[in-house]
Amino acid sequence: MAHTAELIAVGTELLLGNIANTDAQMVSEGLSTLGVNVYYHTVVGDNPERLKEAIEIARKRADVIITTGGLGPTCDDLTKQTLAEVFGKKLVLHEPTAERIKAYFTKRLPGAKFTENNLQQAMLPEDCEILQNDWGTAPGVAFEADGVHVIMLPGPPGECTPMFHHRAVPYLQKLSDGMIVSRSLRIFGSGESAVEALLRDRMNELQNPTLAPYAKVGEVELRITAKADTEEEARRLIAPVEDEVRGILGDIVYGADVKSLEAAVLPLLEEKGLTLGTAESCTGGLIAKRMTDLPGSSKVFAGGVVSYTNAVKQSLLGVPEAVLKEKGAVSEEVARAMAEGARKALGCDLAVSSTGVAGPGPDGDGNPEGLVYLALATADGTFVRKVAQGQGRDRIRTTAAHHAFDMVRRYLTGLPVEKI
Ligand code: ATP
Ligand code: MG
Repeated sequence: MAHTAELIAVGTELLLGNIANTDAQMVSEGLSTLGVNVYYHTVVGDNPERLKEAIEIARKRADVIITTGGLGPTCDDLTKQTLAEVFGKKLVLHEPTAERIKAYFTKRLPGAKFTENNLQQAMLPEDCEILQNDWGTAPGVAFEADGVHVIMLPGPPGECTPMFHHRAVPYLQKLSDGMIVSRSLRIFGSGESAVEALLRDRMNELQNPTLAPYAKVGEVELRITAKADTEEEARRLIAPVEDEVRGILGDIVYGADVKSLEAAVLPLLEEKGLTLGTAESCTGGLIAKRMTDLPGSSKVFAGGVVSYTNAVKQSLLGVPEAVLKEKGAVSEEVARAMAEGARKALGCDLAVSSTGVAGPGPDGDGNPEGLVYLALATADGTFVRKVAQGQGRDRIRTTAAHHAFDMVRRYLTGLPVEKI
């Protein structure tokens, strides 16, 4: 039987709009991978009465309740006490947790004053499963009462994310009578509706595994999810569907279980022992940022130039003034000269460039919003791609960066670079 979950985020700062409920997004995404249905997200302030009401409602319509926040040592951290009260459980001091918290203070926070209220975090509901927190002090808690499973996770995303993946997921997997395994195929170069049109019949037909698309900015994720007694068996069910999908979509599938285009590009560069550099105008450093977000990028990323003005395009990248004047900054020729200039200036094997109109509205030369030229300079010559799509600055820049990485990926895997 599929489980039904409700997420309750606890925190007044969420209601005030001071922070976004990113924990809920992360947990929901993880639960859908597990095949757990999420029907409701609730947000409630640090107020025990209203939290109680929210839990009373949730227990009637979900058999898994996951809370985030309010597990810490301060007086507004009331999640544990309130849940214990609603489900009729006493709070008892859990000695090993108390010891762990003391040890955490000595080791990780030398100089920080250990106060008795830190021990509050070791007061846990009786008969619960403790979800050890190796990323902070407040442990998570899970228990079952009246047919409802309750999982409490800490609020800070740096703790909530690993606690969910390493503690809550295994707990939830134990509840299921089989293993749910999913594989995510990442697609760039076709929109969600086009992908769906190609696969619609199969999506409707398939029961186990299921096949479902998820749109991301400028790209598509297709998730194949199988349920079986063992992980091996689930993977056996997934494999032929993956082959079939790859056969239909071809080389726009850039990876499986890979986080992003840049994450697909990094190992390709590493394998070939090549370095990458950037010359960015409309993306303003986004390509370099995304590359350097990845651990291990120093082995393959040489550096980048954010050449926003024509003067910098000329002085640092050697783009000829005449070309800028004649063709305009947003042109195939300038993209090409920028990439070639960066390749020389940075001494890297490959260089990508971007020049375009991020908007809002057209540029001074009448180029429309969303028009972007990307170039890739290599030892085999320079490739240029013209892109005219997207609305809104963020979307245009994100998509442009996707294209830059896609060009590198296609070059490194021997596919046509300029056309998708
Ligand atoms: P702590 O031990 O840090 O007090 P906690 O489990 O008690 O952890 P809260 O006090 O509720 O958590 O929140 C601590 C911080 O975590 C918040 O100020 C906020 O920055 C972040 N946070 C809390 N809930 C969320 C959420 N749902 N999404 C994103 N960030 C959150
Ligand atoms: Mg707190």
